[in-house]
Amino acid sequence: MSNNVYANEADALEMSRPENPAPTAPTAADFPGSTPGPWREYAPEIDGVVTPFYRFIDGGDGCGNAEFGYHGFHLSGYIHESDARLMAAAPDLLALARQYASECGECDGSGLVTVHIPGNEGVPAIDYDDQPCPDCADIRAVIAKATLSSAEGGK
Ligand SMILES: [Zn+2]
Repeated sequence: MSNNVYANEADALEMSRPENPAPTAPTAADFPGSTPGPWREYAPEIDGVVTPFYRFIDGGDGCGNAEFGYHGFHLSGYIHESDARLMAAAPDLLALARQYASECGECDGSGLVTVHIPGNEGVPAIDYDDQPCPDCADIRAVIAKATLSSAEGGK
């Protein structure tokens, strides 16, 4: 029962009936992508006081299991405003990185190129297919770092 999510004892009793299978704790599979933007950051007023280095960062519709219709997060803590602003800009930065990678002129957005090694003095030329594109490998590495899948990051 430790992996069940109940709001209170009455909900637990209702959910324990065979016709109402108990929800299970969310897993990574419940969140196939990051919380859609926009994300927000701000210094909240608490008891009439705003502390510039105490900030909230949140996005989406709330915290919890996507199965229940919401997908999001809320963080709070002591953090410099510039770091909080960078975190809140993450969805926009990721979208731009994906756009630039998809528009790469060297690989037509595939992330892969064929490297041609010319022949020389009787040694035949060789083509190496599916090599990482040198023009967008760095941005694809950033995308892979920011996402659960390295598939869109290229090879
Ligand atoms: Zn490229």
